[in-house]
Amino acid sequence: MVKPPLPALNDIEGSKVPGSFPLIVDAHVHVFPEPIFKSIWKWFDKYGWPIRYKFRTATVLDFLLSRGVGHIVALAYAHKPGIASELNRYMANKCEQFPQKVTGLATVFPGEEKSEQILRAAFDAGLGGVKLHAHVQCFDMNSEEMDIIYDLCSSQQKPIVMHVGREPKIDGYSCDPYLICGVKKLETVIKNYPGLKICVPHFGMNEYLSYKRLIEKYDNLWLDSAMVLTDYFPNNESFQLNEMRMDRIMYGSDFPNLPFAWDRELKWIHKTRLPDKFLERFLGKNAIDFFSLPKS
Ligand SMILES: [Zn+2]
Repeated sequence: MVKPPLPALNDIEGSKVPGSFPLIVDAHVHVFPEPIFKSIWKWFDKYGWPIRYKFRTATVLDFLLSRGVGHIVALAYAHKPGIASELNRYMANKCEQFPQKVTGLATVFPGEEKSEQILRAAFDAGLGGVKLHAHVQCFDMNSEEMDIIYDLCSSQQKPIVMHVGREPKIDGYSCDPYLICGVKKLETVIKNYPGLKICVPHFGMNEYLSYKRLIEKYDNLWLDSAMVLTDYFPNNESFQLNEMRMDRIMYGSDFPNLPFAWDRELKWIHKTRLPDKFLERFLGKNAIDFFSLPKS
């Protein structure tokens, strides 16, 4: 189990992505209006880890794109009912400022009034899926209130990125992720919604091997690598990246909410010397498929 607060690493950051890499899609980047960003950073500094990049949204996006990231999937999440529409409008507006380079996902607070209308409006505004975070939003992924979201995403062919792994379990959350998250609960969703594309971030931290098996078994589940390939969190189960199902894993950084260099994970991947075909899929192609991104 992770025991935060965790330390800052003063590792050196690169000025570019490794030169030999194919197209990189960063499938996990956070953007928020500044006041929300500020309270998230304050919360992380206290309960999680010190945030190294306290940038506002435009700087977050510029920073990665100018260093060679080809496309960004931007995520926000509503931590309470009543703010999702505003966050979604904010997201759509930021995406418009980076045409063809940034794809934003919508958010909704599960169970809030007019969930369906909130998401329909977000999709109409061009947002490309939904981001949910069980630790922050305290939802049970098998509860009835989730069906509205799963049904709409299935029928509109919009993917869901949902943090439903149990870790990092942080004291500052108001619910216990070990009670509401878990691989079995997710498997129920996958089976009930075979047409719904789901991505679980952080390789499902910390049930890595169970998630590895789950992507082998089902074609509607993907995983992202955010913060996992960095040796930062204690790893209770070790797994080999190149033994994971090649078409179901995506690179993601979790930028800017990082306690280490923005390219720490990319350096780790570079050092691991994966086959070209694997790299191409993991760094870009799988995210293009999952989020239906523009191909260039
Ligand atoms: Zn994240």
